[in-house]
Order: sequence, then structure tokens, then C-alpha cells
Amino acid sequence: MKKNIFDYTVDELTDIYIKEFNQKKYRAVQTYKWVYQENAEDFYKMSDLPLEFRKNLVENFEMNSLTKEEVRLSPDGTTKFLFKLKDGAAVETVLMKYNFGNSVCVSSQVGCRMKCDFCASSKLSFERNLTSGEIVEQIVAASRHIGEKISNVVFMGIGEPFDNYDNVMRAIRILNEPHGLNIGIRHITVSTSGLVPQILKFADSGLAANLSISLHATTNEVRDKLMPVNKAYKIETLMQACKKYIEKTNRRITFEYALMYGVNDTIRDACRLADLLNGMLCHVNLIPINAIEGGSYTRTPQSVMMNFRDALNNRGITATVRRELGSEIDAACGQLRRQYFE
Ligand code: SF4
Repeated sequence: MKKNIFDYTVDELTDIYIKEFNQKKYRAVQTYKWVYQENAEDFYKMSDLPLEFRKNLVENFEMNSLTKEEVRLSPDGTTKFLFKLKDGAAVETVLMKYNFGNSVCVSSQVGCRMKCDFCASSKLSFERNLTSGEIVEQIVAASRHIGEKISNVVFMGIGEPFDNYDNVMRAIRILNEPHGLNIGIRHITVSTSGLVPQILKFADSGLAANLSISLHATTNEVRDKLMPVNKAYKIETLMQACKKYIEKTNRRITFEYALMYGVNDTIRDACRLADLLNGMLCHVNLIPINAIEGGSYTRTPQSVMMNFRDALNNRGITATVRRELGSEIDAACGQLRRQYFE
């Protein structure tokens, strides 16, 4: 079976080249430049590699584990991709244009085991983890599609990134390689539904990527219903882990809070949220929820959302309402893939 070129860090590729192909150390850096900086889609184009070695690469490596099945462009410039994988599975990737650069929201799994009640991805069954290469290739494919560099990556697409911890960490290292895409570590964000052991592991990993926590409720009763992961890791346990993470890394956490009308959007919720986060190095992102077809949650009115934000700000918690992109093209995670399979 061929190896996926996107699966390897420069050091790993160097090792393979030396051991399996008796090549010089610098060949891995040369390959990396072709793949990630020159956007080469064919090993034969890598003109500074010996021809015989290029033949070896063609025989032993592949660089196309994804094919574009569907591309939707929204009037605000957001592009949503449905990529088909080699085994026929499909994942979604969203490319958003901001004035600070291009940002890609990647999927980390085919489906998701977390079963959040408000999420389109949870309505389809979990199939498998993505490999590091399949994660990295989503960013490469998005960049090739628009012919521009990607400056930010967020792990907020389909899947729980910490449920595929090792492959996601490898993907982050590959994205951060200076000879490759060279995406700054502080420009990469991992978002988790609250897997406590992995939050603690991430704190010890030495990887300075950003951490974002999908909180979405202020009581265990509501969170148990919205996010079954809460049955394993209660809000108090999650908050303890977040505090340990901040203590260890001195890094700010972003808490994602999707407002759902009549469920978690009262001023009492805002006050409880402020109490939970009191004294923490953090920021709150308030998200207008994308109602999914057949789902039971609707969007909180704009005025209620602003009151919620003000209540947090007045209690010393920095909160902003996230700009919404791509709602015309079902840009919320799992919506396009769901349409494809239903
Ligand atoms: S919101 Fe995220 S963690 Fe929850 S089911 Fe959807 S993809 Fe999984």
C-alpha cells in the first residue's frame, strides 16, 4: 500500500528517505517545498530530485487521498467543500475569508461519537478517525482551490479532535513545519466538547496551539441533554481541567457558547457562566446557532443575544458574538455531509 505524503513530518520523511531509499537528508525538505509551497501534484514535477528517486516516490507514495465531490460558494466568500476519501467516506471543510487572512475549518473524524443534540454531524453514524494526512490535505486542497495561502486553521469541523488525539497532534506539527505550510502554532485552534483527560494531556504536550472549549450550558442538567459527554465529565470537572491547563500553559482559553432560544440564553445563564469563568484567563465566543433540519433548537433573537453578551461583559468576562459566515450554504458542521448521505 502506498504511503500518503501528507502523513509525515520533515523528520519522519527524512528517516524514510535515508533508510528505505538511501537518499540524502535534504531530499525531504526539497519534497516538502514542492508539495506545500509549489503545490506540485505530481512527483515527476519535482525537478531538483533525481529522476530515479522520483520514480521511487511515484511507486511508493500518493498525494491525492481526497477528491472534491462538491464545492459551494457563499456570497460572503465562504467556501464549503465536500471531500470524498479513498474508502468512499466523505468529510466537510469550510474556508472562510477574513481581513486577517484565510481560515480553514477542518474535520478530524468521519462522523462523531459525541452525539451533541444540536449538531448535524451527530445525526450520522461514526465511521472512523481521519489520518493526519487526510486532515492536512483538507487545508492543502482548500489553498489550491483559491490559489492563496491559508493562515489559520481551526479544528471545528466534523468530529471531536481530542477523540483522535494522536493524529490531530501530528497534523498540527505538519501544518506548523517551516519548510511546509508554515502555519503559525498560535494560528491553529483545537476545539473540544470537553474530553478532560485529553485537555490535561494537551496542557503537557508543549504544543502551543489554541484551545477552545464548547461549553454551551451552565448547569449539568442542561449540558447532559445538549452534550452527552457531560455525563462523563461534569461541568465542575471540566472547569478544574481548564484551570489546570491555564496554570500550566499560561494560555487563554476560548469558551464557545451556542445560544439556543429558551434553552441556555437567559440572564441567569449569563450570570452562572460569569461565575464559572470568574478569574480565568478566557474569552467567550457567543454563537448564533445554525438550526438544523428536523432539529429541536432555534436561534436566540439578536436582542437577547446582545443582552447576554452585555451581562457577561458587565461581570468582567470578555464576550463577543461570532460573525456568522456561510449560512446560505449550510456551513455549520455536518450539514452538507448530511444532505449528501440522506
Ligand atoms: S458539535 Fe462537535 S463534538 Fe458535538 S457531535 Fe458535533 S462534531 Fe461532534
